[in-house]
Amino acid sequence: MKFCHQCAGPLILRIPEGDDKPRHCCSECDTIVYLNPKNVVGTLPFFEDKVLLCKRAIQPRVGKWTLPAGYMENGESSLDGAIRETSEEAGACVIVKSDSLYTLFNLPKINQMYMFFRTELANLDFAAGIESTEVALFSEAEIPWGEIAFPVVKSTLEHYFDDLRKNQFPVRMFDVHHGEDRSFTTNLISSSISE
Ligand SMILES: [Zn+2]
Repeated sequence: MKFCHQCAGPLILRIPEGDDKPRHCCSECDTIVYLNPKNVVGTLPFFEDKVLLCKRAIQPRVGKWTLPAGYMENGESSLDGAIRETSEEAGACVIVKSDSLYTLFNLPKINQMYMFFRTELANLDFAAGIESTEVALFSEAEIPWGEIAFPVVKSTLEHYFDDLRKNQFPVRMFDVHHGEDRSFTTNLISSSISE
């Protein structure tokens, strides 16, 4: 980021008075540009013992499978955003119940927070949107486990099939820490049941 969105003056990185972190500060007006994490919202759409996955048509991880998810828009709730992404990427209509919130992931290294809702498919009338090349239902045994696009999606799917056996779906929050060598660890921080 180089220029102020208010006056187009050059931005410089400095710690503003009363703050303790470097910010992008305009050198010509008083504007300070604050950069904050982005929220990614999505659903785990299920039907009987199967889950709907989308094959990615876009980077990153083109050709890999994912749950429908994307960035929240301004003026939108997290759940509305998740439903919208599910419609856009999978052409799917889902039924939302009051216990739909399922997994949350903090990814401080890449400044993102993921949130997935567990939703039932309203019908089997789904189709790939422009960000997907294919959309399909998978049982646990059919899931292409080695071809899942993102660790947060894989973790959500693993917990889902485990929870399905117990017929209990607690809300869980995780912190994902990325290592130097592209490795990562996912730590359970909070659960709505004691585990
Ligand atoms: Zn300015």
